[in-house]
Amino acid sequence: MSFLNRLTRPNANNTSPGVATIALPSPAINSSRGKSPSSYFNGGSQYGANEVGAGQVSGTINTATGAMTNERPLYLCQPFVKAALVKGSLRTITALPKYVDPNEWVAVNIVDFFNHINLFLGIISEHCTRDRCPTMSAGPGMDYTWTSGPNKKQLKVPAPEYTDYVLTWTEKLIGDESVFPTKAGREFSPNFPTTARHVYTQLLRIFAHIYHAHFHQILHLSLEAHLNSFFAHFLVFGLTFELLDPKECRAPREGWGFVVGDLLDAWRALGIIEA
Ligand SMILES: [Zn+2]
Repeated sequence: MSFLNRLTRPNANNTSPGVATIALPSPAINSSRGKSPSSYFNGGSQYGANEVGAGQVSGTINTATGAMTNERPLYLCQPFVKAALVKGSLRTITALPKYVDPNEWVAVNIVDFFNHINLFLGIISEHCTRDRCPTMSAGPGMDYTWTSGPNKKQLKVPAPEYTDYVLTWTEKLIGDESVFPTKAGREFSPNFPTTARHVYTQLLRIFAHIYHAHFHQILHLSLEAHLNSFFAHFLVFGLTFELLDPKECRAPREGWGFVVGDLLDAWRALGIIEA
């Protein structure tokens, strides 16, 4: 019996008008760079953001938003930065349980992260609109672009459209028995770790956007401890199982503030993240 059999399938929003007309990135299952399950523990990340069409940071300076700012973002300010629901070690809840296949553990956690991120997106949906979030921004000058089609065209789309692409693409993967097997006797593809890294990258970008563009709304709802613990869990799990692309964790230019790297550093300094 698979862990996945016990989970409710996610219900992503499929109503984005853009989804039907733009080719979603090909799933990573055909990538020749897939690694064996054991590489979760002993291999370096070989993940390349471009190879299966996942979006990437454009790195262009967005002058409309003022580019660099010296203002400290709220998520790095006390007491918000240390607000957390989980007080113990996150390593305990991320560690591979005995006798469980690493692929199975990664799969079940990805489904769980996906479901929870759906909930947070639902909470901020009335604020994350095409007008208020015209790009999938993770900071001044950092807009994620969605890669589309065989020519890998970079599309700068509004954040709600980008998140719709991610949710639809991920939901399709999770529902694909050849990628996320749930039936007895079906094995994970050797390429599953690569697929998992691609999904992880896209979920990471949604976190980055929520923190950058919507943290004040999260604060207004007193959900900062929930979001922080959720994201810290996501980061520790990603570090433990090498699902995080190092390039996605740092700003494209030295000296730029970037939510993921800044929170990693802050939480390491506070002892919230030990990895
Ligand atoms: Zn937004």
